[in-house]
Amino acid sequence: MTDAKTYLYNTLSKTVEEFVPNEPGKVAMYTCGPTVYHFAHIGNLRSYIMEDVLEKYLRFVGYDVKRVMNITDVGHLTSDGDTGEDKMLAGAKREHKSVMDIARYYTDAFMEDCRKLSIKKPDVVEPATNCIDDFIHMIEVLLEKGYAYVAGDNVYFDTSRLENYYVLSAQKEEELQVGVREDVDEDTNKRNKTDFVLWFTRSKFDNQELKWDSPWGVGYPGWHIECSSISMKHLGERMDIHCGGVDNIFPHHTNEIAQSEAYIGHKWCNYWFHINHLNTKSGKMSKSKGEFLTVSLLEEKGYNPMVYRMFCLLSHYRKPLEFSWEALDNVAAAYDKLIKRLKNLTEEGDVDKDGVAEFEKKFAETLGDDINTSSAITVLYDMLKSDLSDATKRQLTAHFDEVLSLELTKAFEEAEVDAELAAYVEQMIEERKLAKKEKNFTRADEIREELAAKGIVLKDTREGTLWSLEKA
Ligand code: AMP
Ligand code: ZN
Repeated sequence: MTDAKTYLYNTLSKTVEEFVPNEPGKVAMYTCGPTVYHFAHIGNLRSYIMEDVLEKYLRFVGYDVKRVMNITDVGHLTSDGDTGEDKMLAGAKREHKSVMDIARYYTDAFMEDCRKLSIKKPDVVEPATNCIDDFIHMIEVLLEKGYAYVAGDNVYFDTSRLENYYVLSAQKEEELQVGVREDVDEDTNKRNKTDFVLWFTRSKFDNQELKWDSPWGVGYPGWHIECSSISMKHLGERMDIHCGGVDNIFPHHTNEIAQSEAYIGHKWCNYWFHINHLNTKSGKMSKSKGEFLTVSLLEEKGYNPMVYRMFCLLSHYRKPLEFSWEALDNVAAAYDKLIKRLKNLTEEGDVDKDGVAEFEKKFAETLGDDINTSSAITVLYDMLKSDLSDATKRQLTAHFDEVLSLELTKAFEEAEVDAELAAYVEQMIEERKLAKKEKNFTRADEIREELAAKGIVLKDTREGTLWSLEKA
């Protein structure tokens, strides 16, 4: 454990605070997982990239992190509140498949996107549909304690029982988000406008595909209860950090706090880490409007997913970030240049222990300042510019990349492969020269063909034989 201090902006206090976990040296961290009704767009993935950096930074400075993420495969309605259709059902209808088929397919696709972006898989990944009994238990306790009520066959959380329902979001009723404010089908069962559904049986959708038995009738859970229940199942009653995109602050996280603290009877999570949105010029990124920007689309257009990761790291997570192809091109050029620079590092020189310690400290302090990733990348460049030995630079690059995860060490492997290839080709050219001298033209031609098969082109010039790699 280093003695570096960590400061994080906490949505709960709306200030940057020193991070002190409940248990020294340990961090219990929860992430709202994807709703697996479609591919993730690169905006969703911005959130997961920045959460990944937070987790890896905490590990870098020595914390033992346990990270849990749910997979939302039921209950998330198109409004984020209690109106609209279950997104999973909409996805199943769109593709004429079953909800579980859709869930499986898009969960795998999400994991694949994460792999491409070097996002570490959380220690626990739990689909909501695995935990229905846990949700039912929690709802039963909320009813027993008088925090919930049954009306019109649905179970609702009674927000009027709380002293400060808006502890996280500082919202006023008149500022409520559209889906909740307009409550299109004005739910007359609710005692208070901000009450929310814990268990649906009277959904206006009779065709909800996945339903379970419950003490209140056959039905399905609300979205918010998933995260409260799954996080407590794996992390206990006291959590250190809860993450998500800013759109989750209200109503999702506000409702999570309400029901979790009502259930356990004390404060639940100390730090709330929210990532601001990735937008396009025309506004918030969406899966239904405009170009559907996915990792696969970036690849189809010839971008290495690492370029998108670097694009995200070059901005602070609390600022909105505007996506454009021009901006991505600039980062692609910078990434290319960085990799070339790293390829030129040799293994020469001794590792300078003091130099390593100094730059590691700088790197940790920079990230410890509310996860300032763009400054952390500046520390990387400063280090490469310094007069440390190449061997020291290689070691530091590898260590920084444990957090940045930009596949920087691949450059060293590629440089090695490049060097091996060069040695091999030079040796073949030498052999060909000898064969020609001995008038063994068959062997000389064989060598040329052997190299051509490997994509290596020879060119005989007055200065000797030059070689190049055929362009793919
Ligand atoms: P969902 O799959 O809709 O449940 O969202 C997955 C995650 O992506 C959540 O943490 C959202 O808050 C986050 N998110 C949604 N839209 C964006 C965006 N445009 N930029 C960054 N994060 C987003
Ligand atoms: Zn959640």
